[in-house]
Amino acid sequence: MSQITALALFSGGLDSILACRVVAAQGIRVVAVKFVTPFFDYELLAAPDVYQEEVFNKYGIEVLLEDLSSGYLELLHNPRHGFGKNFNPCIDCKILMLVRAQEMMPALGASFLVTGEVLGQRPMSQRRDTLRVIERDSGADRFLLRPLSAKLLPETEAEARGWIDREKLLDMNGRSRSRQIALARELGIVDFPTPAGGCILTDLNLSPRIARIYQGNSIVSVEDITVADVRLLLTGRQFLLPGGGWLILGRNEQENVLLLTMVQNDDAVLSMPVRPGPTAILRRAVSCYEHAAQLQEALQLAAALVVRFGKKIKDSPPEGEVRVSVGREMQTLTVLPLADQVFQEWILNDAER
Ligand code: SF4
Repeated sequence: MSQITALALFSGGLDSILACRVVAAQGIRVVAVKFVTPFFDYELLAAPDVYQEEVFNKYGIEVLLEDLSSGYLELLHNPRHGFGKNFNPCIDCKILMLVRAQEMMPALGASFLVTGEVLGQRPMSQRRDTLRVIERDSGADRFLLRPLSAKLLPETEAEARGWIDREKLLDMNGRSRSRQIALARELGIVDFPTPAGGCILTDLNLSPRIARIYQGNSIVSVEDITVADVRLLLTGRQFLLPGGGWLILGRNEQENVLLLTMVQNDDAVLSMPVRPGPTAILRRAVSCYEHAAQLQEALQLAAALVVRFGKKIKDSPPEGEVRVSVGREMQTLTVLPLADQVFQEWILNDAER
């Protein structure tokens, strides 16, 4: 019999590393896939080979990177199974990953899927009934093997067809990580990430920002949110101006430079030519305001915020000069700093990290 291949969902956390290794130990060729979105691990796309080499050298696992962004932005509009404590649609997220993984299986010659899920480890997505919902709604069903808890779950095709010996699988259950750590030691895995994951949708500070934009309070409509918008959403100070304008201010020089790399053609860009201060973007200023007067009003407010967060210079007048470019047009506004009590309600959230 030629070697059987399994496709494993790989988060990079210990459970997924162990799941791959437990299956590989039975002579199965395991190919892992790490899904990325703007909400988790997106930066890996900048140098996939570096990541692939690191995972292979550390854990002996062959990993592919797959961008899940397009389906994911849509999923956030209205996840069928709802959100967790923050803006994390964990059940639908896992379903989406499994659906995409199944689409990848033929090209990889994979016969079944593997995940590192552990029964009872997470309240929302790893309860017995939820595990069942995930395999049912993704269509993966009996082709999904969860080797770390397999002995506590119904038999899957991989076991029934004799590709995998069920006896050599595990019966992990619950939140304690001691068995995983002991198994890691046994397998010689010493360098693994801590369980707290890097998913921004579970982040106490950042997930409310994303939620508010997705609630549709901005002039940028929910259907039009792009990957670039999400990257912008995670940068700098964020405001929703009266009228729905979405304004982002850099908090330091590094963020100012970063913001300039994120400017799009229909954004307005603001900065102070004389004093040090934030660079700011008013997103989709050109396309989202119906009337020039509304845009001008938003630019005045944005400029007043730029001055508010600009450096104060001793003995100079409080007003500041702000250069504003909208498309090809430039103007200079001289404005007073906005009083703090005026803009508190406009802060998307403080997100000081
Ligand atoms: S924590 Fe984030 S990446 Fe993980 S399942 Fe939930 S939404 Fe998906």
